[in-house]
Amino acid sequence: MSRKLKGIAAARGVAIAPIVHFHATLDHIPTWRVAEDAVAGEKARLSVAIAGVTTSLLDLQRELAGSLGNQDVRIYDAQVAILHDQTFRRDVETEIEQRHVNLEVALQRVVARYEQVFAAMENPAMRERAADLRDIGRQLVGALMATEQQKYTANGRDYLFAADEFLPSDAGILDRAHIRGIVTAHGGKYSHGAILARSLGIPSVVGIEAVMLQSTTGAMAIVDGDAGIVILDPSPAELADYEQRWREQRAIDRRIAEVRFQPSVTPDGVSVQLLANVEGVRDLDSLEVDAIAGIGLVRTEFAFMERRQFPTENEQVAMYRRAMDGAGGKPVTFRTLDVGGDKPLGYFKMPEERNPVLGWRGIRLCLDWPDILYTQMRAILRASALGHARVLLPMISTRSEVVRCREVLDQLSADLKATGVPFDPQIELGVMVEVPVLVPVLSDVLPVADFVSVGTNDLVQYLLAVDRDNQRVAKMYDPFHPGVLRVLKQIADAAAVAGKSASICGEIAGDHWFTPILVGLGYRELSMAPVFVPRVKLMLRSFTVTECQDLATRAAAMQSTSAVRKLVQEEIQPRWVRQLAASEDGRR
Ligand code: PEP
Ligand code: MG
Repeated sequence: MSRKLKGIAAARGVAIAPIVHFHATLDHIPTWRVAEDAVAGEKARLSVAIAGVTTSLLDLQRELAGSLGNQDVRIYDAQVAILHDQTFRRDVETEIEQRHVNLEVALQRVVARYEQVFAAMENPAMRERAADLRDIGRQLVGALMATEQQKYTANGRDYLFAADEFLPSDAGILDRAHIRGIVTAHGGKYSHGAILARSLGIPSVVGIEAVMLQSTTGAMAIVDGDAGIVILDPSPAELADYEQRWREQRAIDRRIAEVRFQPSVTPDGVSVQLLANVEGVRDLDSLEVDAIAGIGLVRTEFAFMERRQFPTENEQVAMYRRAMDGAGGKPVTFRTLDVGGDKPLGYFKMPEERNPVLGWRGIRLCLDWPDILYTQMRAILRASALGHARVLLPMISTRSEVVRCREVLDQLSADLKATGVPFDPQIELGVMVEVPVLVPVLSDVLPVADFVSVGTNDLVQYLLAVDRDNQRVAKMYDPFHPGVLRVLKQIADAAAVAGKSASICGEIAGDHWFTPILVGLGYRELSMAPVFVPRVKLMLRSFTVTECQDLATRAAAMQSTSAVRKLVQEEIQPRWVRQLAASEDGRR
C-alpha cells in the first residue's frame, strides 16, 4: 500500500528510485549485501580497522600521558582491551557470516546489542562500559569510512539516499551517477545539506521524522522535491503520474537552460550580475563560466571540512588559484573560514556550546585564532596575483572586527611586497551582512569595507529567531516576511548612499520567485548555486526595473508573509508561465 509522508521541500524536482538507508546510529554508515566469497574480505577489513584504531588510541594515550593522571590514562587501556576482545570480534564476524551484511552494519548491530546489555546492569561502572563500547564502534566505523571513500552507493544502481540527516561531508561520497533523490528525517530547507543538495540538483525532501522507520532499503519510492512529499511503495497509477511529471520537468529544464548564455538584463536594459556560489573544486569542474559574471561566494570552509587537518598556506594557494582559473579571469570572492555553528571542523576541537549558532563561529573564531586568518588571507593574497580576487568576512557584527581584519590584510600585503611576492594591491575587502545588528550601523561600517554581501540564510534565521536547521519551526522560516524585505531595502539603500556594491549570496538569490523583488529593492548582483542561473536569468528578462520596483514596494509594505506570497502567485507566476510558453514558441 502506498504511503504519503509530508516533509519540507528542500530541492526541487521529482525522483523515482529504490530507497537506500544510510544508517546514522553510528554516524552515517553505508549498507550493502556481502556475498559468500566477499566474507573473508570483510573480516580482513576488520583486522585493518582494529590495527588502525589501536595505533591512534595508543598515540593519543602517549600524547595525553603528561596531562592526565595515571588512572585516567588507563581509560585508553580499557578501550584497547575492548578492541581486542575475542568475543566482540567473533560476534562481529558471525554477524557478517550469517547475515551477509557489510562490516559497518555488523559493528552497528553488535554494538547496539552489547549496549543494551550493559545499560541494563545495576553496577554503574559496568554501565559506563556501554559508552566505551559505543565510542570504539564509532572509531572503527570512522576508520573504515576514512579509508573507504565513495561509499554511498547501491551497487551501481539508481537510488534515493535516506538517512537521519544529509551532512556536508556526505556530499563528497555519494555515487553521483546514480543518486536520484535525498530524503532525511531531520534538517530544514536552509541547512547546509539542503543547500548542497540544491546546488547538486538532487531533488530532496527533508524533515520527515518517520521516514527511516517507515521505509526499508530496496523499496520503491518517489521524492517530490517541489511539494515536499515522499511516497513510499507508490501505486502503479502514482508511478505513471510521476513518470509523466518527470518527463515534463526535463522538457522545461531544457527550455530554461537555453537562456543561460544570453545577457542577464531586464527588458528595459538594466544589467544585473549573476554570479556563482561554489563549495569546492567539484563545483568548479562543472562551472559554465560564460553563463555567469564571476564567483560571488567561495565557501572556503568546505575544502577545510573535507580534510583531516588544516591545509597549509601553499595548499590553500593551490586551492584558491584553482578557483581563479575556474572563473576564467572573472572576479572571485573568497569568504574566510566560516566554521562553527552548524559547520564543525573535525580536527579543530571546539567547545561544547549551548547555542552554537550564537556562539564561537566565523570571524569570531578566526580573530581569536589569528594564525588561521593570517594563513588564509596570505594564501588569498598570493592567489590574487592571477586576476581579480575579493575577500569576504563572515559573521561580522561590529565595525572594529572589520578594522582588525583590514589591519591584518594591510600587514600581510606589506610583508608580501617587502619580499617581492606578487599579489593584487587593489584587493577588495567585503563584509557579509548576516548579523542583524550590522544593518543599523552600516553607515559606520561601509566606510571601512569595499562591498557588502547579504547572507540571507543566517540573516533571516537571526531576524526571525527561527533556527534554519530545525524542521519543527521550518514553516516560520520565510524570507518573504515583509520585515525581512524592509531590512533588505535598508541594506541596499545604505550601500547606495555609501557608493558601495551590495550583493545577495544567500539562497533567495537563486529563488526565481524572489528575483523581481530583489531587483526592485535595488540589488544588481545576485550570487547563487550555478544550477539556478538559467531560471533567474529567464525571470530577470521578464520584468522591467520599473515593474520590479513597483512589486518590491508593494511587497515590503504588506502586513503579512501570506500577502507577499499571494502577490508572487498572482503577479509573478503568470508572467513566468507566459515567458516559458514564449520561449517554447521561439523554438518552433
Ligand atoms: C548565508 O548565511 O546566507 C550564507 C551565504 O552563508 P552560509 O549559508 O554559508 O551560512
Ligand atoms: Mg551565513
